[in-house]
Amino acid sequence: MGRPRQQRRVASVRWRGATLQGIAGWFLTARRLWAAPVLSALCLTACGGGDGGGPTTSASGGTTVAVTRPGAPTIGNATAGDGSASIAFTAPASNGGGAISGYTATCSAGAANLIANGAASPITVTGLTNGTAYSCTVTATNSAGTGAASGATSVTPAASAPSAAIDPARIPIGDGKLSTTMPRVGFVFSCTNPSSPNPPGKSPWVSADGLTWDSTAKLAVQGAVTWASSFVTQIAGNSRQVDGNGLPSHVTGNFPIAATDPARQYDANPNRIQSVAIAWGLPANPVAAPNPTCTGLGAIGVLLSGARIFNALDADGRDAVAHEVQDSCDGHPQGAGIYHYHNVSRCLQAQDDPAAHSPLVGYIADGFGLYGLRGEGGKPLTNADLDECHGHSHALTINGVQTVQYHYHATKEYPYTVGCYRGTPVAIR
Ligand SMILES: [Zn+2]
Ligand SMILES: [Zn+2]
Repeated sequence: MGRPRQQRRVASVRWRGATLQGIAGWFLTARRLWAAPVLSALCLTACGGGDGGGPTTSASGGTTVAVTRPGAPTIGNATAGDGSASIAFTAPASNGGGAISGYTATCSAGAANLIANGAASPITVTGLTNGTAYSCTVTATNSAGTGAASGATSVTPAASAPSAAIDPARIPIGDGKLSTTMPRVGFVFSCTNPSSPNPPGKSPWVSADGLTWDSTAKLAVQGAVTWASSFVTQIAGNSRQVDGNGLPSHVTGNFPIAATDPARQYDANPNRIQSVAIAWGLPANPVAAPNPTCTGLGAIGVLLSGARIFNALDADGRDAVAHEVQDSCDGHPQGAGIYHYHNVSRCLQAQDDPAAHSPLVGYIADGFGLYGLRGEGGKPLTNADLDECHGHSHALTINGVQTVQYHYHATKEYPYTVGCYRGTPVAIR
């Protein structure tokens, strides 16, 4: 955290060389009652000589020496925060013969200049826009005024990392968060209730109380099998044609899972990956339906890897991402050999920029796009940021046009992707 705001504000006035009258004027417009005692206390020690002009003098051992403005501080690293940046620096070689009374950090982007003051390194500048690159410098001030600026350092503030919101070692398990009657935030609105009376046992990456699972400890199916993937999307009138062979553009594990694979003891997936054609005509200009609709257990869309995505449920109606064993790209085949994910694969070509909205990662059967973990300004999203279908609306570039449109997002937490269809889905397999 930075210094208290009031300290920075008051000090800033002095360091910019304002007159007392100027301070009073600022003081009136600021209408901050707290400023009065702080200001008078400050003036006991520091309000003299604040004209911002040339050299002043100070007594030193009975003689008088001219004080000049201090040299430029040496800039250090800038550390991005959520709407802020912490600017490190070292003191100038010369203090100009007078004690340095403070430092000012300035971060600029275009016409925006954000300023913060402090007594020492680092100084935290607040009020920055996440996802915007700023150039930051630091100046030192003594009784003679403010010296030259340091060199610049650049920084792009961003919201905190997803791990800050969802601990990857303790992800809440979604078992039971299934509704067959109505959509609910954090649930899958499922067209069927596949609950099995005898679900498989618990895996070691599931906590003893069964409430969380550890994504850092979960096994992945071994192997690095490459596939001749074909995948093309193109707009034809009101339709987004999606054609491919259903095989992913990344490597997969060995399926059926080998007897020698440690994953086999937890998930004996007997299926072999097969090419199953995709030839879908999705709505190119989707609109929200009057009411959201449920998702089935098969494909609900496709990722840009060319492989299908299913909802978060396994065949027993449990949290598939927590319980099923997928390969290191988060996919596995089902009975018909269809390779599919239950969350967004970590092997997609388009990766997140921590300071920006996630790129498109796939298309859902109602034609709306699926995006990654980050919303506007790079903010990691949780269920609380999204509606019951796991999406939201804001300006995006879609089909090359900047437009406000609904879209789905991935999250680190269940249901990981789509909770229900916001638009009207076409039948896909
Ligand atoms: Zn599955
Ligand atoms: Zn978004």
